[in-house]
Amino acid sequence: MKTHVQVAVIGGGVVGCSVLYHLTKLGWSDICLIERSELTSGSTWHAAGGFHTLNADPNMAALQGYTIKLYKELEALTGLNCGLHHVGGITLADSPERMDFIKAARAMHRHMGLDTHIISPEEIKKLSPIVNTQGILGALYDPLDGHLDPSGTTHAYAKAAQIQGAEIYLRNPVTDLKQRPNGSWDITTKNGMIHAEHVVNAGGLWARELGEMVGVFLPLHPMEHQYLITDDLPEVFTRDAELPHVMDPAGESYLRQEGKGLVIGIYEQDCDPWALDGTRWDFGHELLDNKLDRISDSLEFTFKRFPCLETAGIKTIVNGPFTFAPDGNPLVGPVPGLQNYWSCCAVMAGFSQGGGVGLSLAEWMVHGEPSRDIFAMDVARYGDFCTKAYTRNKVRENYQKRFSISYPNEELPAGRPLNTTPAYSIWQQQRAVFGQGYGMEHVNYFAPEGEPLLETPSFRRSNAFTAIGNECHAVRTSVGINEVHNFGKYLVKGKGAQAWLDGVMAGKLPALGRITLSPMLSPLGKLMGDFTISHIAHHEYQLTASFGAQDLHMRWFERYLPALNVELKNVSMSRIGFQIAGPKARELLAQCTRFDVSNNAMPFLSVQKIEVGQCDAIVQRVSYTGDLGYEIYVPAEQQVSLYHTLAEAGVAFNLKPFGMRAMMSLRLEKSFGAWMREYKPDYTPMETGLDRFLDYHKQPDYIGKAAALAELVEPPKRRLVSFIVDAIDADVVADEPIWKDGTVVGFVTSGGYAHFSKKSVALGFVPTNMIVDGAAFEIEILGEMRAATLFTKVLFDPQSRHMRS
Ligand SMILES: Cc1cc2nc3c(=O)[nH]c(=O)nc-3n(C[C@H](O)[C@H](O)[C@H](O)COP(=O)(O)OP(=O)(O)OC[C@H]3O[C@@H](n4cnc5c(N)ncnc54)[C@H](O)[C@@H]3O)c2cc1C
Repeated sequence: MKTHVQVAVIGGGVVGCSVLYHLTKLGWSDICLIERSELTSGSTWHAAGGFHTLNADPNMAALQGYTIKLYKELEALTGLNCGLHHVGGITLADSPERMDFIKAARAMHRHMGLDTHIISPEEIKKLSPIVNTQGILGALYDPLDGHLDPSGTTHAYAKAAQIQGAEIYLRNPVTDLKQRPNGSWDITTKNGMIHAEHVVNAGGLWARELGEMVGVFLPLHPMEHQYLITDDLPEVFTRDAELPHVMDPAGESYLRQEGKGLVIGIYEQDCDPWALDGTRWDFGHELLDNKLDRISDSLEFTFKRFPCLETAGIKTIVNGPFTFAPDGNPLVGPVPGLQNYWSCCAVMAGFSQGGGVGLSLAEWMVHGEPSRDIFAMDVARYGDFCTKAYTRNKVRENYQKRFSISYPNEELPAGRPLNTTPAYSIWQQQRAVFGQGYGMEHVNYFAPEGEPLLETPSFRRSNAFTAIGNECHAVRTSVGINEVHNFGKYLVKGKGAQAWLDGVMAGKLPALGRITLSPMLSPLGKLMGDFTISHIAHHEYQLTASFGAQDLHMRWFERYLPALNVELKNVSMSRIGFQIAGPKARELLAQCTRFDVSNNAMPFLSVQKIEVGQCDAIVQRVSYTGDLGYEIYVPAEQQVSLYHTLAEAGVAFNLKPFGMRAMMSLRLEKSFGAWMREYKPDYTPMETGLDRFLDYHKQPDYIGKAAALAELVEPPKRRLVSFIVDAIDADVVADEPIWKDGTVVGFVTSGGYAHFSKKSVALGFVPTNMIVDGAAFEIEILGEMRAATLFTKVLFDPQSRHMRS
């Protein structure tokens, strides 16, 4: 065993072995994998081995496609057999809503280059005669779906890595991890110490324990899961060809052929989190007790869907644990707050995702950033808010919803409320309907009297449509109030603040009392953030960005933070308040403060520390609504006081509260992009139009400047544009394909109904040479082609007179 390595991967399941292989593939060979027992000793050995490309996130789906295509490469490289069965997969739809769901998935696949199809009940029957298609309206067919041999595949990854120089140490539990001052790790194992520059936690069922060794909580939890293997069945063994997989969301089941019989797995509602207080270190190649009573209802349903099961004998019942994060996606990347400690766990579909996860982590370690945006599986999408109990509640909900329809406007109820601001009860009294992001409750909209306090989950316009429209109208015609807790906020202070910010931000820094907007770039010139920078005092700046990106941004800042002269603090929870927006916003603010807030004293993009009511406030003259507006930040404990000041003065101006849905509608009228929709690490400043905020001349160079300059020489081939869509009762959400003359030429990033302009709007990318005002395109919404007209002049106030008035 080596005593020093560049990387030690802990865990020899399919995920750890994939990381090991991908590190060697990218050229690192001074690496090892340490395994407690034998390879596959966690969840991996009892997996059903199914793989598929379906995922709500396009980059995750693409990485699943990469994983599936990788198996042939592994076989060729190692001569080992992964036991591949590319039999295709069918996802059944038994209601109009499920048809909408699969049509939306199909549309998204078009721009991802995946060859899925919607098929009829007759076609289902032809592909899989064992399905009873009564009540079935159609299905999604994916020819890439299939299954493999979990053990053979894991060994193929391991051997491929060994061929390329990696070492594997079996029967060697890691018992402790200690960090040296230089950030490297001393790893205590049963067979001795190893010193590693980097450690990867691929501990699967024991990832929580490996996290605890270094004092971090990784938000994942194991769940029990059962599948059954039948005896041989004539409906199977008399066929020439192998049966395809069938997912039946209505029955919460999946089914595939295994030899001459079938495998049926159930994601049941009555499910159990496993090992609440941690996974036993001596848990080995063992199965859990069967709990057939929990799945008996689902099985009964399954027997009706696949009548040949009714008489089938059961050969084996498998009940095994595997891990989930609260949203079911993996936890990958550098763990915030720790140096050289990488997470690669909570991979609930190791045979669909293991390859892509291993590739992304290896790229991150070797190249400094993954080649595509993987925020959907970045460990930094969860922050300290995610407690153990909350994680358990959400993981259970995720397991239960594995086969449910995910609606774009759906707000999942488990574990809520968790974090609230002092204004929460004020909004409750006004009939707020809440959503949650990054553990925090925010108002989506306010339900009128007599209407339910729930937005109906739907792919089409929901019951909230009129209420949201009224909120937009209130903002545009008088003044609206909305909370500003939903921003991540950072205080940067000290003599070195300006120089440091100049180095990490790509835009110009503001003069004292002023505000600028600035992208933050990665070394490869990708968008890492879009910030509002306010110069609030001498050597003191406030940065504002997306609330959900707090850990992402703090991790990035800390990576580049100098040791001296800069103080950085995340004040997202302690500095909250309200925004007021609309033509009457200034008059309202003037009623609440003795300070001069006229346009001369406080022009657009200025910031002041003033008293509003009795509160010490930072007031920023900016507005995401595109109207005259102010963001007013106060210490959290003064938020209620601030509310009463604004609300009392607001009576004279017909002040109305508005929620996030209205805000997102209003921003469409200005074609303002949103973080993780239009702006994310997949895109560059020039592609998104954020290049207008770059400072190409700033010296010394900032991160990403060389890549930004390179875009000037070779401009991007696609750009973000806006469309008016001829929609009927369903607007775009994201990832719909954009068509021109019968070909998919681009994709939607976001959109919706712009209530004040009474137009359905889509934002998305198309090739630069097609960008002509008024050009005709089509956007596929729920399987139907809708005419879409490209526009270049924003819908509301193109001269921005309102914002600047
Ligand atoms: C019943 C069932 C059916 C499933 N069906 C499918 C399916 O059809 N398709 C699919 O894609 N997925 C399926 N899965 C999920 C799949 O099994 C997991 O996604 C996958 O196994 C996760 O692999 P892993 O490497 O992350 O974790 P694990 O397999 O748990 O591996 C972790 C490894 O780390 C080692 N380890 C932990 N701590 C230490 C330590 N301190 N020192 C050294 N070594 C350590 C362990 O011994 C273990 O070998 C199924 C799971 C179950 C339970």
